[in-house]
Amino acid sequence: MRAAILADIHSNLTALEAVLADVERRGRVDEVWCLGDIVGYGPEPHRCIETIKERCHTCIAGNHDQAAADKLDISYFNPEAAEAAGWTTQHLEKDDIRFLENLPLILEKGDFTLAHGSPRDPILEYVLSTAVAEESLKHFQTRYCLIGHSHLALLFECGRHCSGSELAPESEVKLGNKRLIINPGSVGQPRNDDPRAQYAVYDAEAGRITFHRVEYDISITQQKMLEAKLPHWLIHRLALGR
Ligand code: ZN
Repeated sequence: MRAAILADIHSNLTALEAVLADVERRGRVDEVWCLGDIVGYGPEPHRCIETIKERCHTCIAGNHDQAAADKLDISYFNPEAAEAAGWTTQHLEKDDIRFLENLPLILEKGDFTLAHGSPRDPILEYVLSTAVAEESLKHFQTRYCLIGHSHLALLFECGRHCSGSELAPESEVKLGNKRLIINPGSVGQPRNDDPRAQYAVYDAEAGRITFHRVEYDISITQQKMLEAKLPHWLIHRLALGR
């Protein structure tokens, strides 16, 4: 069994299509798993939802998906995120909203728990420190946990304590006895100073997850954002990967 793992697509269809093409190029996958935040920030929420519906086998909700479906108070969003969330809601169809509303917050898939933020708080909490990673272990039963939300490709390896590290492009993580919390990085708005679209592939037979980064034409997404009059910083940051 091979599964592509995608997180934080953020209405960036050009990045999503580049990732799905790269997945195909590397060999067949049986499933595509999505870790939430299909929408928000970017210019093509409807088409991203359509693509996810078509291609994804498993999907959970992110904070931006909940915001677009009016299930989350966005008063804590920064002004640009809040403006984009309002724009997103206006550009969704009823079926899109229904789809986002019904996404589960947390799911188990074999050895993995899928949660957008953290298993303790799937919508709002970031797992960025070993302290939060250690706390997270109490909140999932499977050996491994897949998360998104920070837009950073990160690994927390946990024995008695957890240690955290950034995942380099084309790196691989062997799945063994240690409990792991893994973030594949963001498809549509990476924040690790590398603007390439990021995702991972789980290979059950090989017992590993590999991490990939894909170039895509950022200017296409930026042009669509300009036409949609989305906030300037959101357009600019895509080229910086920040
Ligand atoms: Zn996100």
